[in-house]
Amino acid sequence: MLAESCIFCKIIRGEIPSQKVFENDEVLAFLDINPLSTGHTVVIPKRHAERLADLDEDWNAALGRVIGRLSKLVVSVVAAEGHNVLQNDGAVAGQVVPHVHYHIVPRWASDGLGYRWNAKSANADELTQLAQRIRAAL
Ligand code: 5GP
Ligand code: ZN
Repeated sequence: MLAESCIFCKIIRGEIPSQKVFENDEVLAFLDINPLSTGHTVVIPKRHAERLADLDEDWNAALGRVIGRLSKLVVSVVAAEGHNVLQNDGAVAGQVVPHVHYHIVPRWASDGLGYRWNAKSANADELTQLAQRIRAAL
């Protein structure tokens, strides 16, 4: 997708209104229009990139610096009991807007959102081999 037609690029350019909560040279954060919970915030790089892997280390570092600080702040403002930080990467992972973004989702025991984490126990040999393959690919 081109930056011209990207909804988050339009927000960056001010062509679509948003409730901004933070902005610096590289990063913009605004309130989600369809929040999962009160304070649900979207954090984006101020350049068009569809997937996390499309961003270099400097851009990822810029995002990381903001997410840590902003999470703490948002959680404190809405008096949340915890929060999720999510980055849906690719349609299969739930990404709808094709511009890299992190979600900061404040959480309360009573929020009814639940949490699906369908883990299964791993085979020790498989883990050893997989870790080797990933290290070898670095
Ligand atoms: P995704 O599913 O791609 O990870 O999440 C995209 C998020 O962007 C959704 O939570 C959605 O509500 C939010 N969103 C989509 N369009 C707009 C918009 O025009 N303004 C704002 N503030 N949020 C948006
Ligand atoms: Zn974009």
